[in-house]
Amino acid sequence: IAGFARERLREDFRRADVGISGVNFAAADTGTLTLMTNEGNGRMVTSQPRVHIAVMTVEKVIPRFTDLGVLLPLLVHAATKQRMSVYQTMINGPRRAGEPDGPDQLHLVIVDNGRSRLLGGRYEEVLACIRCGACQVACPVYRTVGGHAYAATYGGPIGAVLSPLLDERPEHAALPYLSSLCGKCADVCPVKIPLPDMLVDLRADHQAARGDATRQARGWRLWAALWTRPRSYRASVGMAAAGSLLPDRLVRRLPGARRWARGRELPPLRGAGAFRRWVAMRARRDGAGR
Ligand code: SF4
Repeated sequence: IAGFARERLREDFRRADVGISGVNFAAADTGTLTLMTNEGNGRMVTSQPRVHIAVMTVEKVIPRFTDLGVLLPLLVHAATKQRMSVYQTMINGPRRAGEPDGPDQLHLVIVDNGRSRLLGGRYEEVLACIRCGACQVACPVYRTVGGHAYAATYGGPIGAVLSPLLDERPEHAALPYLSSLCGKCADVCPVKIPLPDMLVDLRADHQAARGDATRQARGWRLWAALWTRPRSYRASVGMAAAGSLLPDRLVRRLPGARRWARGRELPPLRGAGAFRRWVAMRARRDGAGR
């Protein structure tokens, strides 16, 4: 595929008037734009067309060129487990006199889009993201639902944090709930962004904004009261087990269930004694092993 793409796309790159690329890092002290690729497409798009337009978000700016010594291997290893990507393209400006290739013009577009608003706030650390994608690969939810389910530019745990912070569209407010909070994203993040903590905080922000916090707290208090007393615990689990015997169509018509059940499958409960049976089975197995 790479061979075919190279042969087919090379002419397109040569004929194009304008090449548009992203940027992995931009060094503030030298103005160097760095692009990492494994296919060489970055180098073609930045060197062949007459005009190169580089688009980057503002947090890609790093203080010093020498910081790349740490950041490049960190990014590449977290993203693909390579020591270094096949191509590292460093751009310092348009083609100068005597240079064989490169664009006549270089335009750099720096997108803020709400990012600088996060500086100094409790979600500031999210700006340290180097877009390696490791949290996505590690996330069991992302691996199950895929990137399109997030309906935003960024998917996975980083998208579930960043999208609602940058854009207050109602559909983004639900993204922090798209996580089991297993913590794998924080384990693999090379820059140690506390993603699960942020997801919990964003949920709390969302509840507070909707005025649901008190209602939720009341609900949890009721749940705690029921489940810390054996009799009411057994009664509630028994009712849930009995409810699971009702036909799915009927359950979906119950007051309050219709909206919740839309787009969800209701798994059958295994019965109130399932946990006890599991404990007894383990005890029998352990006894037999001695
Ligand atoms: S949050 Fe961390 S793991 Fe996820 S893309 Fe950003 S740097 Fe990589």
